Amino acid sequence: MKVNIQTLMDDVQCYATVRELRWPEGRECPFCTSKKVIKRGCDDKEPARQRYECKECGKRFDDLTGTIFAGHHQPLKVWILCLYFMGLNLSNKQISAELELNRTDVQKMTTQLREGVIKKSLK
Ligand SMILES: [Zn+2]
Repeated sequence: MKVNIQTLMDDVQCYATVRELRWPEGRECPFCTSKKVIKRGCDDKEPARQRYECKECGKRFDDLTGTIFAGHHQPLKVWILCLYFMGLNLSNKQISAELELNRTDVQKMTTQLREGVIKKSLK
C-alpha cells in the first residue's frame, strides 16, 4: 500500500501557511495595503478559508485574494506540497512524480512560486 501525502494534509494548516507567507507582519488589505482589516466569516465551500473586509476601502477579500493560488485549478494542498518539495531541493521531475502532475504544470508552478506568492498586478 502506498501512503498518499495529500490525504495526510490538513486544509486548516494549508491556509495558515498561506497567511504566514503573505502576511508575515499581520493582515493587510490587498487593494489599499491598509492594516484595518476585520474577519468576515469563512468561505462557503472551504471552511478553512477566512474572509475579510477592509475598514479603509470597504473591499472584501479572502486568504487567497491577490495570490497566485486564487482561481487556480490546483487545490491549495498541491501548491503547499510543491513548496515543501522545493524546500527539499527536489527537481521538477521528482515533484511531478510525487504530485502525479505533468511536468509542464509543475514547471509553471515552481516558476510562479519562486517569483513570490503575491500577484504583482493588484498592487
Ligand atoms: Zn483596503
